[in-house]
Amino acid sequence: PEPPPHAAVPQAGDPDLVLLRRIGVVDPTSLDDYRANGGYAALREALRLGSAGVIREVSDSGLVGRGGAAFPTGRKWDGTAKRPETPRYVICNADESEPGTFKDRVLMEGDPFSVIEALTIAGYANNAAMGYIYIRGEYPRALWLLENAIELARARNLLGTDILGTGFDFDIEIRRGAGAYICGEETAIFNSIEGLRGEPRSKPPFPVERGVFGKPTAINNVETLVNVLPIVLQGGPAYASIGTGRSTGPKLFCVSGAVERPGVYEVPFGADLRELMEMCGGVGTGSDGRERVPRAVLLGGAAGGFVRGDELDIPLTFEGARDAGATLGSGVILVLDESVDLTAILVRIAAFFRDESCGQCVPCRVGTVRQEEALVRLSQGTGARRTDLALLREVGDAMRDASICGLGQTAWNAVESAIDRLGAFGPQEEPTL
Ligand code: NAD
Ligand code: SF4
Repeated sequence: PEPPPHAAVPQAGDPDLVLLRRIGVVDPTSLDDYRANGGYAALREALRLGSAGVIREVSDSGLVGRGGAAFPTGRKWDGTAKRPETPRYVICNADESEPGTFKDRVLMEGDPFSVIEALTIAGYANNAAMGYIYIRGEYPRALWLLENAIELARARNLLGTDILGTGFDFDIEIRRGAGAYICGEETAIFNSIEGLRGEPRSKPPFPVERGVFGKPTAINNVETLVNVLPIVLQGGPAYASIGTGRSTGPKLFCVSGAVERPGVYEVPFGADLRELMEMCGGVGTGSDGRERVPRAVLLGGAAGGFVRGDELDIPLTFEGARDAGATLGSGVILVLDESVDLTAILVRIAAFFRDESCGQCVPCRVGTVRQEEALVRLSQGTGARRTDLALLREVGDAMRDASICGLGQTAWNAVESAIDRLGAFGPQEEPTL
């Protein structure tokens, strides 16, 4: 049997938590228990505020997307709700696939009704006729719990026609991915829902204008949606008072690797990397009983980048990370100690992108193969080092500049940061091809 979701949440039960406060506390199969723990108060408040009122609170909150790209949610919803075309759709992107990311899984498995309630509010705010949850196929337990939650919500008129007697009609259907990382890209999700091959579309047009079935669509990550519940309940300005600058509210981080207590952690934006690692018990001791030394931290997953083990003062805010030349992405904090073979990790990351490229555009289809080949040669000490480093840079820049979607655009990020920041493969020389 799988471990319960709160096993991955060392803070479970802490009453000060916002997003994780019901994890390990509420019975994820029971609508009554969810309501007894504050569930569906936000939907009632949203219905009182009206669609425009909900969007105003979300805009005032400063909430930005938690899938990785940090686009303002209020702007996205405003853009969708204002479009004249109907029907409009809302989609919960639950295809969590970034290596090292497991926060959405914890939310869906530990508090599935919150996802349903939040997507219902999104549907109301965006005047959507219908909502989809697109979930990765590797999350069978989350799928079962969400299906159960939808069924129970329908039975209590929290989904369906004339919800709670307000005249609001809205329902949710689930679609499962089948193992492709690229199907988490929003426009590939549209294709997949439409029964087409899961390949990204060119943007613009953005989904707010032309999304699934060619209609205006607001698509948001699971964690982003769950943030809407406290925003509606507390009001946007109160939520915006948490955090710093352009990074407002609480944030989930997925901490793994060389730390004493890995798991999903909730912190208000503003803590730095060192403080978060201290919450996780630090790097601790290795199997030989000696204190481990953090060599590097991968921030933001394979699409993110490495920082050095002596750069732990990086603020965990979108702007702080950017100013430090890093990214928070989907909240991955993967800590590597000195025992780790960095080059093997780089080859693994490159193999991942080569494997997951959908092959639609040349820079990514060919570039991910060339990148992996060069890294294999460098790690094995075969071939010409200077030429391979120069080749990596040229191929990486071409992928970043010319790929259709985020996969190809970010496939070189981690490798580039390992070369430039960690000195992987030795000191840099003038590149020559
Ligand atoms: P993006 O910057 O293209 O878009 C972000 C969001 O903003 C999208 O929903 C997009 O439609 C919207 N948007 C952007 N400009 C807009 C405009 N002018 N008008 C209206 N809407 C607009 O990024 P993306 O390709 O959607 O996502 C990339 C991120 O996804 C990366 O940061 C990566 O870390 C992350 N990612 C996450 C996972 C995961 O499992 N959570 C997996 C892979 C990648
Ligand atoms: Fe497909 Fe890669 Fe092009 Fe994205 S960048 S469309 S994954 S080939």
